[in-house]
Parts: sequence; structure tokens; C-alpha cells
Amino acid sequence: MPASNATALWVVATPIGNLGDISQRAVEVLNSVDCIIAEDTRHSRTLLTSMAINKPMQSLHEHNEQQRIPQLLEKANAGQQLALISDAGTPLISDPGFKLVQAFHQAGLPVSPVPGACAAIAALSVAGLPSNRFHFEGFLPAKAGARRQRLQALAGCPETMIFYESPKRLPDTLKAMIDELGEQRMACQCRELTKRFETINLKPLGELLEYVTDDTEQQRGEQVLLIRGCETGPSAETIDPVTRALYLDLCSFLPPGRAAALLSRHLDVSRKSLYQLHNQQTRS
Ligand code: SAM
Repeated sequence: MPASNATALWVVATPIGNLGDISQRAVEVLNSVDCIIAEDTRHSRTLLTSMAINKPMQSLHEHNEQQRIPQLLEKANAGQQLALISDAGTPLISDPGFKLVQAFHQAGLPVSPVPGACAAIAALSVAGLPSNRFHFEGFLPAKAGARRQRLQALAGCPETMIFYESPKRLPDTLKAMIDELGEQRMACQCRELTKRFETINLKPLGELLEYVTDDTEQQRGEQVLLIRGCETGPSAETIDPVTRALYLDLCSFLPPGRAAALLSRHLDVSRKSLYQLHNQQTRS
């Protein structure tokens, strides 16, 4: 049964492929609310119909989220209970809903989760990579230059990294990962999780690229890529070129230690690796 009658907005996870993964509580909550907010109402109607749920629906996607908020708050203030779902998995995880949830908090309206499937967590649970700490990255930028820059910034990340990727970009992303992280870095491709053609491939990046190039079936379907974190700790080589230039410029005005402390406070870069860069420069 629902946790509380006072909940104004339920954030409900739905399956990532296998309809059997809907929870009993998700069905009960979706059956009990006044309105279901969905990313794509036509897509979600199919899932809801399969569970004999027939409720008024409203769309909420990245292009209309902000403008939808006032009318959804109005409904909640009038005593209606709402549920937010996305096309698949957990709302807000590389999906819309953050602004809506934030607005409900700001309006003092209670929000409650109905947890369930999430591709990132399902993938982490079977990847065979360290799972005690992880970094969820979601989708890398679509443009090649920006994607490489982001990978450079992540090269020293010590935690297992989780990426969502579109099948058509998979080979290019693997190539960029090999260039920036090295072909020996362990990676796991989790494809079509919970569905008929589910595959889980744990291999060094170089072998994984060969594997998906030889078997083009592996380039189809939904993909999560997990990459083992950097095991040697942050080093100067992993600093992206813009941060590198900024640090070296700053060192003309500030002591290197202060410049490193300043940058590491504001950017995703460690003080230790910046200091290492300074030492390298003074040695050369
Ligand atoms: N909110 C969702 C969640 O909780 O995982 C993610 C939504 S995001 C827009 C969609 C991406 O999640 C896909 O492009 C793919 O990378 C990943 N994904 C979703 N379902 C998947 C599945 N069954 N197997 C592998 N990856 C999946």
C-alpha cells in the first residue's frame, strides 16, 4: 500500500524492458492517483493498459517541464495526488522530472519514491567491476570534441564510471575511450538488460571494441557502458587541456599550491595532480 496519504507527488519507477519488473506497490500507487505524468503519454499508455490502469495523463518532457509546473502544483494544492513516470526505469535518471520535484519541495508538498528498475544500477550489479563507489555520468556529449574533452576530465576518476550510450555511437565512443583511458582499461557492456537479447561483456576496452566491431548485433539495442576507475590515482596526464592551460597561467600570479587549491575547489580536478603538473613543468 502507499506509504502515506499525504504524498502529493509519487516518483514511480517502471521496467527497463521486462514488464515483470513492475512492482506491486507501483501498480497500487498508479491505480490510486488522480493523474499520471509521463514523458511520452502514448508510450506509457501501452504499459498502463497492460496493467489495466486507466487514469488521466499529462505529458512532461524536457521541452515543457518548466511551463507544466504551475498547473501541476495547482492540482496538488487542490488535493490531487500525482505520479511521475518516465518512458523506462527511474524518473530523473537521465530523464525529466528534477525541476518538478524541486518545485514540489519548494511549495512544501510531500514527494515520495516508489523505487524499482534503473539501467545504471542493474548494470552495476552484474558488471563485475568495483561497486562500492561509482560515478554515474549518463550520456556523454554527442559531439566528438566535447565527448573527448569529458573523457579526458574523467580519465583519473578512481570510481567505476557508468555511461548511457546510444547504439549508433557505441563504436566511436569505445574508440574515444581507448584513446583517452587506454585499451587495457576494463569495461563492461551491458546490452538490452532484462530483455530477450540481453548480453553482458566484461573485457578490456581494446577487446570490447574488436568484439562489437566483429559482431554488429552488439551495436544494436539499449546500452550501458561501465568503465573501471583509474587505479593509479590522479596524475598530471589526466588533466584536460583547458584546465592545464588555466593552471599554468594562474601559476604566474599565485604560488603553485594556492593556484592548485583554488582550481580544485571550483573544477573537477585534484590538487595533487595539478601540483604534479607544476613539478613536471619546473623539471622540464
Ligand atoms: N531512467 C532510465 C533508467 O532508470 O535507467 C534511463 C533513461 S535514459 C533516457 C535511456 C538509456 O538508459 C538508454 O539509452 C540506455 O543507455 C539505458 N537503458 C535503458 N534501458 C536499458 C536496458 N534495458 N538495457 C541497457 N540499457 C538500458
